[in-house]
Amino acid sequence: MEKSAEDTVVAIMDKVEVKYRQYKIQQVYVETCNEASNQSIIYGNLTDSQGRCTHYHSPLDVIANKCSVCRKFYSCYKCHNENESHSFGSIPPEEASSVMCGVCGLQFSYSEYEQMGGACKNCGADFNPKCSLHKCIYSDQKDK
Ligand SMILES: [Zn+2]
Ligand SMILES: [Zn+2]
Ligand SMILES: [Zn+2]
Repeated sequence: MEKSAEDTVVAIMDKVEVKYRQYKIQQVYVETCNEASNQSIIYGNLTDSQGRCTHYHSPLDVIANKCSVCRKFYSCYKCHNENESHSFGSIPPEEASSVMCGVCGLQFSYSEYEQMGGACKNCGADFNPKCSLHKCIYSDQKDK
């Protein structure tokens, strides 16, 4: 039995469709993975997995801040400036997910961070009150 030209075309189109779908699924998968890893990685000269670094490593130093230029979380601005070719870009205080608790991974805006009053609202980890000394580095201040 001979296949008609039409059948052949339909068969090829089916194959193309399947390939295309596989490609799409793969792409979405890769994107999802990238997003997930970008969101939870803390960069810097880390001394543990909770965001402490060679500069700030007291029990309270668990906050990571996002740079507005490279969009990476860094354990501190010194780590950032040693590892990047630009200096740390401050983030608007209202921008969501720009500060991260290194203990539980919860992300929040700088304003929320200030409202928490020195401890993570999710895991209860204490934050270093001295971090506010560097507020002008991590967060955009309207009246500097
Ligand atoms: Zn940066
Ligand atoms: Zn550091
Ligand atoms: Zn936490």
